[in-house]
Amino acid sequence: MSKCCICEKEKNDNLKILGKYICSDCEWKILTAQVHSSGYNKCVSKLKKIFE
Ligand SMILES: [Zn+2]
Repeated sequence: MSKCCICEKEKNDNLKILGKYICSDCEWKILTAQVHSSGYNKCVSKLKKIFE
């Protein structure tokens, strides 16, 4: 089990990106946010912190 760094849910299938875990739900939200700039700003800002 790994803890998503965005929603903090523990799931078996979380992705590991740069040492952080991201669940498929948040991954999808991030991908969607790139298309629809409104919404999911919280997820995006958290991700930006991770990748900086
Ligand atoms: Zn998540």
